[in-house]
Amino acid sequence: MRNETLSVHGGFVSDPTTKAVATPIYQTVAYAFDSADHGAALFNLETDGFRYSRISNPTVEILERRVAALEGGAAAICVASGQAALNYAFLTLADCGGNIVAPPTLYGTTHTLLAHNLRRQGVEARFAANDGAAAIERLIDENTRAVFCESIGNPAGNICDIEALARAAHRHGVPLIVDNTVATPILLKPIEYGADIVVHSLTKFMGGHGAAMGGAVVDSGAFDWAAQAKRFPMFCEPDESYHGLVYVERFGREAFIARCRSVYQRTTGAVLAPLSAFLLLQGIETLALRMERHVENGRKVAEFLRGDPRVAWVNYAGFADSPYYTLAQKYFSGRASSLLTFGLRGGLEAGKAFYDALKLIKRLVNIGDAKSLACHPASTTHRQMTPQEQAKAGVRPEMIRMSVGIEHIDDIVEDLDQALAAAGLGRRSALAAE
Ligand SMILES: *Cc1c(COP(=O)(O)O)cnc(C)c1O
Repeated sequence: MRNETLSVHGGFVSDPTTKAVATPIYQTVAYAFDSADHGAALFNLETDGFRYSRISNPTVEILERRVAALEGGAAAICVASGQAALNYAFLTLADCGGNIVAPPTLYGTTHTLLAHNLRRQGVEARFAANDGAAAIERLIDENTRAVFCESIGNPAGNICDIEALARAAHRHGVPLIVDNTVATPILLKPIEYGADIVVHSLTKFMGGHGAAMGGAVVDSGAFDWAAQAKRFPMFCEPDESYHGLVYVERFGREAFIARCRSVYQRTTGAVLAPLSAFLLLQGIETLALRMERHVENGRKVAEFLRGDPRVAWVNYAGFADSPYYTLAQKYFSGRASSLLTFGLRGGLEAGKAFYDALKLIKRLVNIGDAKSLACHPASTTHRQMTPQEQAKAGVRPEMIRMSVGIEHIDDIVEDLDQALAAAGLGRRSALAAE
């Protein structure tokens, strides 16, 4: 099935008992066993079924199947947030002593997770000098457990060459993890280009309405853990925390997701609520349609801003002079996402006045909502970073990040126009005549 159909039907036929057509919300913590033996078989992971919602839940499972189907993966696990998904993906691969190699341009909280939290747990984050495959490959060694990148960086809007990164990682026997939050599988399926693990914040474009948080980890099923048993003994040797289970033997192509679920979700419990799974599924039904409008409006806003003399610069991969234009053509057929950044003439102060004058466009830290949203990364999402780290992450002091929504384009542009006027940069027509 195609994207549009998978978005509506993926992972769900109809409820076997009630024949309900909308996804039922299984608001339950536990599931009754037929017998002691049935309970034991469930706990031994010998039979399919549910036992406790910290491990799995039928509503969440439908979402897991839908996201896996959209990404072309073998299996997925859905958790409480995008950050929980990233944390579980990293920890499932990297124990103390391992390292993760990534470009410097990352979502702010992911940078913090890698640079600070995981480091304290003995997992080293290695940030390359830039987002190119050569700079990243240089940092891979025998302790590397994963290469990680965002298909479209948030907020920098950089595009990683996933095919080149996958080749570099695989040359060293290492899997590639891609955060595909900004692109969504509608614009790009990283697994088709060699990615092994795909991570999502479902909170953003996937859910699409800013109403529920969620995250997903999808496994392509293609990485051969047994062939890298020295690097990844956790998949190939008996797991003492699970009475000697060997993940690759029991789960084959689903070994990674099974370990993620039975080691990390089971013991640390960043569980996705069934109601959130329902809301995210509702959102995903219109994902393909929404992305079309997001992309179209994103282009029109980028063009409006670039044509306005009050705007100093616009960073948008759909422009032919963008350093990421070629990659945007290759990976998205030119359909650059609706995430873009820009700076005003007059720098930080003018930017703040503009930001405060927005009426329709919301001032907040979120992306991928049906509503148009704007954020000032230096004072919010990337505030914990030093100015040098901000510069490396592609965050300039005056930069405004915009996630263009699906409203009528004229209303979005009118709001931008009046906020630019309020920033005290003079009238557009007068500046244009200069
Ligand atoms: C928002 C975001 C995250 C974190 O997701 P949450 O659901 O907010 O935890 C991770 N990566 C990217 C690219 C994001 O935009």
